[in-house]
Formats: sequence, structure tokens, C-alpha cells
Amino acid sequence: MEIIFLGSGGGRWTTLTQRLRTGGIRLHGESRIHLDPGPGAIVNLAQAGISALRTDAVVVSHSHPDHYNDAEILVEAMTRGMRTTRGTFAGSRSAVEGVEDIGPVLSRYHASKVKEMLVLEPGGRVSINGLAVEALPAKHSDPTNVGLSFAYDEGVVSYISDTEYFPGMEEGYRGARVLIVNVIRPANRRIPWHLCTEDVIKILHEVRPELAILNHFGMTMIGLAETEARRVERKTGVKTIAARDFMRIDVGEEIEVQEVR
Ligand SMILES: [Zn+2]
Repeated sequence: MEIIFLGSGGGRWTTLTQRLRTGGIRLHGESRIHLDPGPGAIVNLAQAGISALRTDAVVVSHSHPDHYNDAEILVEAMTRGMRTTRGTFAGSRSAVEGVEDIGPVLSRYHASKVKEMLVLEPGGRVSINGLAVEALPAKHSDPTNVGLSFAYDEGVVSYISDTEYFPGMEEGYRGARVLIVNVIRPANRRIPWHLCTEDVIKILHEVRPELAILNHFGMTMIGLAETEARRVERKTGVKTIAARDFMRIDVGEEIEVQEVR
């Protein structure tokens, strides 16, 4: 399978300034999944030379715009311009149904053309076109936010979405071969609801993936992400890299990081 980063940015100010792209992550296995399509996802797909029409599922971890903004336009692509009912939309309860004053992220019109709508509940498992996906707990300002593990034949690819550190959170990610971690701040410059690099170091002491990828950088991580990744690797012994816009990762027998064009 292949992982393609359409953006490595996150948080309000990186998103508003587009200092880094925010189009989310593509997971290309038997199905093509678009994970967390933030603002610009449709543009970033075109820039990466990937047809949006070849989308089989849209997955949204939670209802913040840097994670869902382009979800409707992706649904339009997935349904071949709303002409057929097809594909899967999977998301946090807030994203699928709406919770209090947030979500849902699809209009009723868009949801009407999606073949399968799946709510991702922490601890729950769903199948997306035969791919087993586990939703994991998070502690975020959208209280229904989830982390995710995708059980590919090549190994488990996991995604720690926006969350602050909480004891025991490592449990669900054990066994991941590739671990993508949203880390908005460097060093120990912690803010509520998010991880900083020190938290990632703690997590990686418990979860020992073959490759960790730092992602979703706020303004204070810009220019520092690669240094932070090297520091994480040095302190944990886990191979760690910083995501870059349009980076591609081949997960086969080996894990190969393709240079960005
Ligand atoms: Zn968020």
C-alpha cells in the first residue's frame, strides 16, 4: 500500500496562511481512502496528479475544518459528480451525525449519495471495503474525535489524530508498523488538546513502530519539524521522519520514503 501526504500542516494559523498544505492523507491499498481532507484537498490532489474521482472512501477523524473542509467536494468526486450512489463516508459521531454545536460535516444532499455512512466510536471496529479499521480514543476539543488503525496486509498503519496526551493512550497503537502522529508544537511547548514533541517521545517509548511520521504542524513547528523528528529518533530509537507536502511512503516488504518532486 501507499501513503501520500497531501499536506503536513494543521491547526488554525498554518491552515489560514497555507504555510503548509492541509489536504490530508491518501491511503492507497485495494481501496483509495482520503483521510482528513482539510482545506485545499481537491487542489492538492490535482497538484499531486491523483484523480479525485478515484476515491472510494472519505474518513474524517473529527469536525474541525482542517480535517473536514473538503469532505463534500470529495464526496462529489467519489459519487462521480453525484450521479451514482457509491462509496463510504466514515467519521467521528460529530462528523457523521453532529454533536451539540459541531457537525455534521456533510449536507443531507451530499450524504444522500454516499452508499455507506459509518460512525467511528472509540474502541469500535468497522470495515471499509473489507479493510478492518479500528477507532481509538482521543482527548480533544471535539470530544468525539478518534484515532485510527488500518489493518493492511502489509501491516497496520495507525494515525494519532488531534489529541492531548493521556495515560494509556499508547495501548491502542501497539503493533502499528507505521505510526502517523499529529504533533502541532515542538519540544515541551504543550497546548491543550494537542500533542507536542515531548509527548510523542513518551508515546514511542511504548509503541515501537517500524516508522513514525510527525505530521499536522502548527506555526511553531514550521522549519523545526525535521530537527524535531531527528531528536525523537535519537531519544527513542524509533526511525522517525517529518511529513512533507506530497511525500509518498511505499509500505511493502520494506518501507520506502519517496523524495518529494
Ligand atoms: Zn482538531
